[in-house]
Amino acid sequence: MIEISHVDKSYGAFQVLTDCTTQVRKGEVVVVCGPSGSGKSTLIKCVNALEPFQRGRITIDGVSVGDPKTDLNKLRARVGMVFQHFELFPHLSIEDNLSIAQVKVLRRSASEARTASMALLQRVGMRAHAHKFPSQLSGGQQQRVAIARALAMNPVAMLFDEPTSALDPEMVNEVLDVMVELAREGMTMMCVTHEMGFARKVANRVIFMDRGRIVEDCAKEEFFGNPAGRSDRARQFLSKIL
Ligand code: ADP
Ligand code: MG
Repeated sequence: MIEISHVDKSYGAFQVLTDCTTQVRKGEVVVVCGPSGSGKSTLIKCVNALEPFQRGRITIDGVSVGDPKTDLNKLRARVGMVFQHFELFPHLSIEDNLSIAQVKVLRRSASEARTASMALLQRVGMRAHAHKFPSQLSGGQQQRVAIARALAMNPVAMLFDEPTSALDPEMVNEVLDVMVELAREGMTMMCVTHEMGFARKVANRVIFMDRGRIVEDCAKEEFFGNPAGRSDRARQFLSKIL
């Protein structure tokens, strides 16, 4: 579903990504971890065409991200993205946060959009809050709404960039629970997260990045079950977070 092939990216003279190659198959959950500054966010942003890259190729469901002929708005609608900060529209109600792009991008009628929005809010346990505004919700609730909003576009895959790292600890699980359920329903997911409990539960593969390179890309069982087989950097990193 997501194919990343020999991607290099620089910000000016500073090379952020070097020869990154991996893929996420349909229905697969891939967790991306690694030290701060290793390029995790940049890689995710390249997948969603939020950042250009200089070399290599990324395709989503066969559509090339870097191709000037690709309609980026359509592409972004096909890949849901959830950030660390929830980035809901503050001036819109929760329901309208979910409905607006359905009407504007998917050309759904207002009533169709509303029906879909309410069903999604139900799914993330937020239906009773549909009439509220983002500022009236907790961080965990806002993040669940952000996930529902991304799902409203019927994405073929979901990208997450540290969706729980800005949350108070007591709110982390309510968001992870939604992500676990999504994974179990078969959603294709690429998740930057240091929540190794989540990785153990639902990941198929774990990618470890260091200084712009993918230095580990292996099955979850191998990643957690065989520490001796890991690179020094990955072992050091794991020893700090586990
Ligand atoms: P991570 O998400 O793993 O913490 P990032 O992808 O955010 O890492 O950043 C990787 C590197 O690129 C860091 O050294 C960061 O300072 C640099 N970087 C990120 N965004 C920009 C930018 N817009 N301009 C210049 N450098 C950037
Ligand atoms: Mg980051």
